[in-house]
Amino acid sequence: MRIVVDLNRCQGYAQCVPLAPDVLKLSGEEALMYDPTPPRLVAPAGIASCGFLPGASDHCGRVRQERGESVKTSALVADLITEFKTNGRIVIVGASLAGLRAAETLRDEGFNGSLTIIGDEKQEPYDRPPLSKQVLKGWVRADHTLLPRLRTVDADWRLGVAATGLDRTNKVVRLANGDQVPFDRLLIATGTRARPWFNPKEAELEGLFTLRTADDAAKLQAALAAKPGRVLIIGAGFIGSEMASVCRELGLNVTVAERGGGPLVGALGGVIGDIAAEMQRDAGVDLRLGISVQSLEGDAKGHVRRAKLSDGTTLDVDVVVASLGSIRNTEWLDGAGLAAGFWGVACDAGCRVFDVNGVVTDSIFVAGDIARAPHVLYDYQFLVLEHWDNAVFGGQVAAHNMVSLEPDRRPHLPLPAFWSGQFGVNIKGVGVGPFGDEIVITQGSVKDRRFAAAYGRRGRIVAAVTFNHGKWLEYYGRLIERSAPFPPPPPGYDLADGDMKPMPARFPDPRAPTAFPDVVLTGHDPTERGAEYQPKKR
Ligand code: FAD
Repeated sequence: MRIVVDLNRCQGYAQCVPLAPDVLKLSGEEALMYDPTPPRLVAPAGIASCGFLPGASDHCGRVRQERGESVKTSALVADLITEFKTNGRIVIVGASLAGLRAAETLRDEGFNGSLTIIGDEKQEPYDRPPLSKQVLKGWVRADHTLLPRLRTVDADWRLGVAATGLDRTNKVVRLANGDQVPFDRLLIATGTRARPWFNPKEAELEGLFTLRTADDAAKLQAALAAKPGRVLIIGAGFIGSEMASVCRELGLNVTVAERGGGPLVGALGGVIGDIAAEMQRDAGVDLRLGISVQSLEGDAKGHVRRAKLSDGTTLDVDVVVASLGSIRNTEWLDGAGLAAGFWGVACDAGCRVFDVNGVVTDSIFVAGDIARAPHVLYDYQFLVLEHWDNAVFGGQVAAHNMVSLEPDRRPHLPLPAFWSGQFGVNIKGVGVGPFGDEIVITQGSVKDRRFAAAYGRRGRIVAAVTFNHGKWLEYYGRLIERSAPFPPPPPGYDLADGDMKPMPARFPDPRAPTAFPDVVLTGHDPTERGAEYQPKKR
């Protein structure tokens, strides 16, 4: 006799017992005992690979049993995991830092099933941080920044083809070339792209660049090596400031136009922004603050030659770099019913993606720049961390959780960390500065550009930044992890020049509206209400 138990429909294992009392009995533990038990689990072909693992619920709960012996649930589950690791299908979309590190972890953790890695760039995974530093300086070629492989990864690499859609019902990823790739588990690691210049006509001008990819870096490097008369960088975030620094190292005239009150203000606040502004001006950058670029004009050959600024002035330029932040690559998920959009792809701390209603999915995971997860240290707020460390550790945790049972899953709760090199200063940070509203210089000397500063909120330390003082980061990191009081106790020596008085950190107002919602709530009955995706009018 054969019994099929549909674990999707069965709300609790014990429900089956009264339905088939002659073959099922409960042994006192909260688990269904099958009597008799087969020597080992026999699952119908094609469904055993999912089983009890996260994401298995749609078709993997049915377990075929031979009459005869009794098997404990834990043994069944272990069998299903083994089966999944042997015959399961995992697809990773996004073949860069997070995707590669996830793939390596999957193989490290014994996943021997089919692994497909889809990436729209033709290159093998490469590192982006050198693009705005060593590559632009001409020290390293853009195509020489491939990421080191931590191990060989046996996978079907589909490079140079974009994912264009996700069909969650049939569990397939649709590709631009018409192919459909089926999966049991999916990892979304599609990161971000550079925000283009807002005027599409002007965006076609020769000599106008953005920087995100190795191709972008190769083209910009060539343009800088041709010794242009003046470079205009629009936006003084980390990448814009790094590029300005490189320009000065190359002896180029460079203007930086920044709409806000100083460089790095969005990430580090106005106090540090003032210091960064001084660094830029000391290095000979023509820094224009509170100024936006309103339009770009080209010559008869379509090469950019002039920029009109918001103060009414005009600037003659030969190279313009729009460094306007990033856009998250979520369009291919439109209509898939996931919590994906302007802010990224929302997930729990274990990297499992939320659907549009905020219900966690079991078979779709996300990692890297595109992921948006709640962080226990920051009031469980959903954070997007566009930093290298976050992509590495997020990819690794997501991969681990994709092949693990609930009790073995790990949270991805990194202490956010970043670094930047500009104007001869090594800037490093831990925590989330913009979460704080106060700052105090704790060590070193601002004048010498060798100092540490801590950020606080409601009497707790939430972040720290160092300029040429990175050896102290670990100390501050430990304080942040413990939510230690702010201002923090001085570390004992190398005290700051000043009076160590906290001051307002001067971050931009986070309430400024930035995006339109693309999800609405529908339904009158609260038990039937659901969120509905509304395509953006682009
Ligand atoms: P990405 O690296 O963005 O990779 C996503 C991949 O998915 C890309 O290859 C993309 O083309 C692909 N993709 C997108 N859509 C699709 C689709 N539909 N189908 C298939 N493939 C798709 N961080 C630091 O901490 N310190 C630094 O100094 C630093 N410097 C940086 C300098 C530059 C110039 C840049 C651009 C970034 C820098 N970063 C730095 C950030 C760091 O590089 C990122 O955090 C990291 O690359 C994120 O990795 P990821 O895999 O999540 O995303």
